[in-house]
Amino acid sequence: MDQPLKQRRAIELEDVHVTLPSRAGVVAILRGIDLDVSLGEAVAVIGPSGSGKSTLLMVTAGLERATSGRVTIASTDLGKLDEDGLARLRASKIGIVFQSFHLVPTMTAIENVALPSEFLGKDDAMKVAREALDEVGLSHRISHFPGQLSGGEQQRVAIARALSTRPTLILADEPTGNLDLTTGAHVMDLLFALKERTDATLLLITHDHELATRCDRIVSVADGRIVDDGIEARASVS
Ligand code: ADP
Ligand code: MG
Repeated sequence: MDQPLKQRRAIELEDVHVTLPSRAGVVAILRGIDLDVSLGEAVAVIGPSGSGKSTLLMVTAGLERATSGRVTIASTDLGKLDEDGLARLRASKIGIVFQSFHLVPTMTAIENVALPSEFLGKDDAMKVAREALDEVGLSHRISHFPGQLSGGEQQRVAIARALSTRPTLILADEPTGNLDLTTGAHVMDLLFALKERTDATLLLITHDHELATRCDRIVSVADGRIVDDGIEARASVS
């Protein structure tokens, strides 16, 4: 039924606009974004602060609705899903990592990581969470609360939570933005290794150009538009 080409695409954004009301009137935040990401591809999104990178990620995750245009994730048109459908799609197919970790402060590491599996109704949510924490090297921290963990550890918990359900798509918004250089490098090594191991697709927002060059492709956003797409990052640095 589906065309083979479409099946190879993890993300397809077609003429996506996001306009939001503000006190000063309607603001155009995304102004006609076209972006295709293939299955298994790692794409970095760079651009100045305020250019619309986070909004692009939110629209891709179905956390923000496109005002117009089409967002297709793993052959599913997000515009055709209601809020429950979006939540289910996110839980089963998408893992999101934020700059500020977004862990639930009143839950232990293992409880945080178990959340997506519990949402999906899995009986073995705690076992899955334990294994995911093991994968990020935090077996010795499972009963700690986020406030008892370092920034790097918190981000590793967030990565374990994002990847515990084996999502086909990983979305990361400046995941090293709150970490020092060394910790950030370790966290990214981990994220790339898990991406490779699970054959996932990665959309990585970063202002770190060196980090961007670790992806297959760099997309530059400015003023709500893609101004450059398809620099062969690895080819250009090696
Ligand atoms: P970036 O991640 O590239 O810094 P964002 O996507 O966060 O950019 O924001 C793009 C622009 O949209 C910014 O000017 C920001 O102030 C504005 N913006 C983001 N969210 C909202 C909102 N909910 N209401 C109004 N303006 C917003
Ligand atoms: Mg942002």
